[in-house]
Amino acid sequence: MVFPVLFFLALGAILGSFLNVAIHRLPRHQSVVSPPSTCPACGARILPYDNLPLLSFILLRGRCRHCSAKISPRYPLVEALTALCTAGLYGLLGLNLSLAIYLPFTWALIALAFIDAEHQILPDRITLPGIALSALVPLLGSLRRVAWSPGVARLSVEEWGLGILLGGGIPYLVAAAYRLAQFRKLPAERIDGMGMGDVKMLAMVGGFLGWKLVLLTILVGSVLGSLWGLSGVALSRYGMKQALPFGTFLAVGAFIALAGGPILLAWYAGISGFPE
Ligand SMILES: [Zn+2]
Repeated sequence: MVFPVLFFLALGAILGSFLNVAIHRLPRHQSVVSPPSTCPACGARILPYDNLPLLSFILLRGRCRHCSAKISPRYPLVEALTALCTAGLYGLLGLNLSLAIYLPFTWALIALAFIDAEHQILPDRITLPGIALSALVPLLGSLRRVAWSPGVARLSVEEWGLGILLGGGIPYLVAAAYRLAQFRKLPAERIDGMGMGDVKMLAMVGGFLGWKLVLLTILVGSVLGSLWGLSGVALSRYGMKQALPFGTFLAVGAFIALAGGPILLAWYAGISGFPE
């Protein structure tokens, strides 16, 4: 038990290191595979022994070896978070094919969360391949001989399709309603409730988790976003017009729905007669 946990912690830390590259480069429309990493401050090539997940940040005390510029705390944070989520998902799902599907989904959520927090965009280069990859969920889940975790449902094609439709459709309608409500205002004064990035991200989440858990994702994401928004107003750091990184909250909501959703649905079915 200890060895696989250590393996998934290390795998997560390495993946987190790659996610850091994607988080930095995707919003800048750069390739994630080449050129090799450089210091954003001085441009010096980061040598392999200075590029070890988590360890290098500690050994270098958070500074570039060449110019001593501070390295963003985002780097160790993403690496530690990815390591914990990767090992945690292994603990939750066990070693089977569903883990191979839901690990990349989790990594995509982490990248989207940090890119949206920093740049307020959710890149198509993550969400669109994600929607395509989600087709594996009903495809492989339907094969009874394939080992699948009891911790996640085997989605039918209908649950998968409805997940994409509702996941994409609900934020699309919210965005349209916002537009309609503000048609008298000048374009510069309009606030977007949701963007097309949210539409594609939630379509992806619906494809991986199905229609019930994408509804739970929207609910949890909205609650978290509202709490954050209210605390921001209370601290008067933001006016209400400040766009919230809604994708960040949706990513947290989607991971909660993945990790705890089946338990929450069973509980809800018990008290309401909602079809489980
Ligand atoms: Zn430097």
